[in-house]
Amino acid sequence: MKKALRFLAEIFGFEKLSKYERDYLHDANIRSCSYMGFIVVLIEIWMLVRQTYSKIIPKYQAGGDLRTLFIQYTSKYWLFLLIGLGLMLFCLFYQREARLSKGRFFALLLTGTACMLYTSVLNLESFTKTSETITPAMAAIMNTMLVSVYVFLFVIGAVIDAYVLIKYLKNRNIVLLEHLVIVAFTLVCLAFGIFVSYSDFWGGKEIICFLTMVIYVGGLLIYRPYITLLILGTSFWGFYHILLTYQGGLSFRKQEIVISGVTRLITSGDTVNYITFFISLATICFAIYHGRLKEARKSKELEKNAKQDQLTGLYNYSYFSERAAAAIRNLTGNYGENVLLFMDVHNFKAFNDQRGFEAGDRFLVAFGGYIADSFGDSLYGRQGDDHFVVLTKTEGLRKKLEELNSLVHDYDEEILMGINCGAYHMSGNNEDPRMAVDRARYAAHLISNRFQTVYIEYDKTMSEAYHKRLYIINNIDNAVKNGWIVPFYQPTVWSDTKEVCSCEALARWMDPVYGQLFPNEFIPVLEEYRLIHKLDRAIFEFACRDLREAMDAGKPVVPISLNFSRLDFELMDAVMELDELAAKYRIDREMIHVEVTESALTDNASKLNHEINRLKELGYSLWLDDFGSGYSSLNVLKDYQFDVIKIDMRFLSNLENSEKAKTLLDCIIQLANRIDMLTLTEGVETGEQADYLRRIGCDRLQGYLFSKPVPKEVLYERVDSGELVMSDRR
Ligand code: C2E
Ligand code: CA
Ligand code: CA
Repeated sequence: MKKALRFLAEIFGFEKLSKYERDYLHDANIRSCSYMGFIVVLIEIWMLVRQTYSKIIPKYQAGGDLRTLFIQYTSKYWLFLLIGLGLMLFCLFYQREARLSKGRFFALLLTGTACMLYTSVLNLESFTKTSETITPAMAAIMNTMLVSVYVFLFVIGAVIDAYVLIKYLKNRNIVLLEHLVIVAFTLVCLAFGIFVSYSDFWGGKEIICFLTMVIYVGGLLIYRPYITLLILGTSFWGFYHILLTYQGGLSFRKQEIVISGVTRLITSGDTVNYITFFISLATICFAIYHGRLKEARKSKELEKNAKQDQLTGLYNYSYFSERAAAAIRNLTGNYGENVLLFMDVHNFKAFNDQRGFEAGDRFLVAFGGYIADSFGDSLYGRQGDDHFVVLTKTEGLRKKLEELNSLVHDYDEEILMGINCGAYHMSGNNEDPRMAVDRARYAAHLISNRFQTVYIEYDKTMSEAYHKRLYIINNIDNAVKNGWIVPFYQPTVWSDTKEVCSCEALARWMDPVYGQLFPNEFIPVLEEYRLIHKLDRAIFEFACRDLREAMDAGKPVVPISLNFSRLDFELMDAVMELDELAAKYRIDREMIHVEVTESALTDNASKLNHEINRLKELGYSLWLDDFGSGYSSLNVLKDYQFDVIKIDMRFLSNLENSEKAKTLLDCIIQLANRIDMLTLTEGVETGEQADYLRRIGCDRLQGYLFSKPVPKEVLYERVDSGELVMSDRR
């Protein structure tokens, strides 16, 4: 029973609608009104022209008074023209969110006032008079219709003026007035239909214009079904009764008709047709209403997805940027009081690794909530990962951030997290929010390894470094294209003979503006902006080409080591790219070593796992770079079959004085040997280090003791001079 009632309530539109749905339906009606207004304006202009040449001009030439003729033949059309114009402009200029521009405000104010003024000069005397074709009853109905339109004109003029004044001065929308305008339009159209039915048609065709107008109104202005029923019902009922008052009109009564000599009383069919028409129209209106409601729900869903970050429900970055751009444009006064914040969660990666992704997601949702609580009256959103952005005022900011930080700090008892927040102060109201975020993000990055340093402001001193970064991002393509990026080669040597057993290709950026740039300046930036594959591809190609050239020149060669970023496997088909280059330069796969850093592998992403195994299967030698530098996990050794482990240079610092470091190094090398992996130690700078490493069984060494990374010409100069000897042991 309850269900049935609810169903009926839904059908008839009694259900409660959300604000979004109401606005959606309302906006659709406003749009319809603007088209309808336009059509009315066109028709009335046409009528005015027609009246002028068919009535006014001939009668004037026949000696009539122009003013009288003009009033007599055009006043009705001005009435409808003004109403159409007022409604059209009102609906055309309607904007829920935005402020009313000055131009629109004055245009509407003028139109509204014109509507009201016209009612005072309109000559009611000129309204329909009885004639041979127009009975007194018809004339009375037509006049009633005209008078009601006359009243509407005044009301609409007043509503438009009141509405735009409030909207312009206070930027508030008065929904009631908007509804009034739409309802007025509906009634005007219906009145017009009834009026024209009588003025222009006869012999039973009067109904046509009325029906046209109800379709016009019913099909374009969609109310809740019960309201539609009310409006259409009253119109049909009223018109039905009016029709009966006109003798020559429709025959709703039964008529005597002679069929095959028998006189019978038969219904003409008009009544049935009339009712059927009403039912069909009402049904169509219902259907349109429910269709629109469905659209509204769908569009809400779409809009939500387009605005919201799926995980936290905060604004997503693109929507945040859009809103921020608008907010920044509207800033006035002291711009510097407004800051863009970039927040990064310190140690979130560790939390994610140890507690798992689901817990990580839960934390991000909670963190989004904290931000919403702290910055409720500001604009905030999530940029991605654990990065959040806020556009806010400086007042009370430090306190809010401290509170936020302690919430994050207390979130997990063991894993200490915190926030690193970079702030960029606005310097005007034409700032691009994305640039501002980028600067705040840059500042935040500078404190990202400092726990408990919560806040940093982007300032002039950072600007230079920031611009260098920007330069790198903007010029990576140029750099690749123009050959600014080249590999330098650093040999690795056998620990016993000190002969060169391979060369590592290390990228250098020879910049026309900045001079030589080192990897620590561009690699992290390119990784952050997911552009690293462009550089790596270029280095791979150079390295292969250099090797090919050396072979063609008959020089002694050793394999090359190439550094792979974890992102290379995501951003390109790294395996295929490498393999194609090897084929292109006819280089045996054994001549290429692939270095992957340990930190790249701790995520244990299955795709990466698969790609690395693919390399291995193809026959490339796999080297584990920087072993022991980060949060080491022996799982990496278990999960992947490496050929060589490169022990991080950190182990060598202080080697002379620390027994512990020596023992550790010793153990690592033994461990590697036990699982059939060879070892290489990086960063060897002294003869003592080299001796010790050879004694404990480290196979290969690399470091400044033997050579810094050098251009290929320098490398071969040293080979030619005998300073370096290329080994043919593999
Ligand atoms: P890495 O792969 O661990 O390379 C070793 C780094 O240590 C090189 O720095 C090298 O110049 C330096 N080094 C070598 N021997 C010694 C030594 O005896 N003492 C000291 N103090 N340092 C030594 P570089 O060339 O600046 O490269 C830094 C990092 O940048 C590399 O670390 C690597 O992770 C990355 N990188 C370099 N080139 C590329 C590349 O083409 N692609 C990718 N993805 N990363 C690269
Ligand atoms: Ca390396
Ligand atoms: Ca390394």
